[in-house]
Amino acid sequence: MIIIIKVITLVALIPAITGHFGYSKCDQHVWVQNFKLCGGKLQSPVSIRSSVAIVLPLPAVETVGYHNFLPGPLHLQNNGHSAVIKLNNNPRKRLPYIFDGSLDADQEYEVDHLHFHWGARNNRGSEHLLNGIRYPMEMHIVHRNKAYSNFSDALNYKNGLAVLGIFFQLQEEDNKSLYPIVKNLMDVKSLNREIKLNTSITLASLLPKNLNVFYTYKGSLTTPPCSEVVTWIIFPTPVPISFNQLNKFRLLSNGNKKLADNYRKLQTIGLRKVYVRRLNSSSIAGYDETIYNVTNLDWFWH
Ligand SMILES: [Zn+2]
Repeated sequence: MIIIIKVITLVALIPAITGHFGYSKCDQHVWVQNFKLCGGKLQSPVSIRSSVAIVLPLPAVETVGYHNFLPGPLHLQNNGHSAVIKLNNNPRKRLPYIFDGSLDADQEYEVDHLHFHWGARNNRGSEHLLNGIRYPMEMHIVHRNKAYSNFSDALNYKNGLAVLGIFFQLQEEDNKSLYPIVKNLMDVKSLNREIKLNTSITLASLLPKNLNVFYTYKGSLTTPPCSEVVTWIIFPTPVPISFNQLNKFRLLSNGNKKLADNYRKLQTIGLRKVYVRRLNSSSIAGYDETIYNVTNLDWFWH
C-alpha cells in the first residue's frame, strides 16, 4: 500500500520536475496543483480596456541596442510550448536592454529570450485581450533585471522581469522582418528540436512602428511557474504577419499534436491598476515638466 502511494506521489510530481504543462482547458486547470504560484492574485494574461486604463504622461520606454543585430549564434527551439529564440548569454557579449517607461528608476532590463503564442484559427492566439480583441498571435520579448545574475535568480524578485508584449495582425503580404524566423520553423517542427540560426535579427525590426503608446501593469509569467515578477509593457499597435507566415507556426508539433492555441486563459485583474502612456498635445509641448515620476506610481487600488 505504501509503495502504491509512493508511486502515485511520484507520478503526480512528474510535471513539477519536468516542467511539463499543457494548454487544453483541463491541463490549464491543473497548473496550480503542480505550480502553486499559478493560483496567485497577480496573474497574467489579462483583458485590457482602454476605457478603464489610467492615462499618464509616463516616460517613453528607452531601448538600447535594439537596432543592432543580436549577437550570434541565435538558437531557435521548439520546446513543446512555443517557438523560442534563445540568445547567446556569453557575458562578454553586450545584449540589448531597456529602461524607463513604467520600469523602476535606475533599473536596466537585458533581453533574455523571445517567444510567441498563436492560435489554430485566426480569431484567437494572443494572450492579452485589447478592447475585447484577441489577436492571432502575440510575441513576448522577455527581459531580465540586470541587478540579478540570471533568469532563475530574477524570478525571486518583484522587479525581476520586464516583458514587452507585441500583437500581430494578419495581412496578405509577408512581413519580411519575420523571414529569418519563419524560414527556419520547419527545421524545428518536432518537439525539443533546436537549431542555430544562420541569419541574425534586430529587435527593432520586430517591434511596431509606434512605441509611444503602451499599456502597463504588474503581472506574472503566463507559463509555469507563473512567478509574479513581471512588469508588463504592451503596445497596442499590432505588427503585420501574412497568413502564410502564421501557418508555418501552426505546423509545429508539441509531441503528440499540432502546437497551437498555446495561450493561457484570462486571469482576473483584481485590485491591479492598468496604466496607459498617452501624451496630450499640451504635455508634449511642456514635455520635461509634465513627465511622470514612476517612483510614486501606485499599482493597486486600495
Ligand atoms: Zn509568453
